[in-house]
Amino acid sequence: RCGFVAIVGRPNVGKSTLTNALVGTKLSIVSRKAQTTRHRIQGVLTRDTEQFVFVDTPGFQTRHGGAMNRMMNRVVTQALADVDVVVHVVEAGKWSEGDAKLLPLLPAPERTILAVNKVDLLKQRNDLFAYVSRIMALHPFAAVVPVSAAKDKQLDVLLGEIAQRL
Ligand code: GDP
Ligand code: MG
Repeated sequence: RCGFVAIVGRPNVGKSTLTNALVGTKLSIVSRKAQTTRHRIQGVLTRDTEQFVFVDTPGFQTRHGGAMNRMMNRVVTQALADVDVVVHVVEAGKWSEGDAKLLPLLPAPERTILAVNKVDLLKQRNDLFAYVSRIMALHPFAAVVPVSAAKDKQLDVLLGEIAQRL
């Protein structure tokens, strides 16, 4: 199995850390050129039976409304529709407006995975349940995986959930 995976999320949630941790030393190519014109490939992870191609998606402006903003959002939505799986990264316990603004741009829920990052910073792991329930009410992600990109926790679980949807 082989497929394209986009890692999305508001600034500072740990997207770069996660992408590096997932691809890490197994990085085989990094290219600024796209396979399709829409995507910049950030890294490829090849395992026994799967190949994950992590791609970058265009950034978008959320601060201002108007035609330009709507056009940019269309570009992002289209780019996200072109990948097989979208991983929306959020920070454990820290939901914000920036996270919410991405939800309407996500493709069908069955191709979206919620990665709740920085769980190493949580004092009470029980708090995650209420946090995740609130997000799932807004967008029913196909899978939810608490991870720590920095501490390399549960990344194999995340890869497993992605692989199931390639
Ligand atoms: P991005 O803007 O979404 O790409 O976020 P970065 O990957 O640049 O990470 C933002 C900050 O969060 C950096 O200081 C990271 O070291 C930190 N960070 C990322 N993942 C984790 C994590 O799992 N645990 C902790 N404690 N910090 C993290
Ligand atoms: Mg980054």
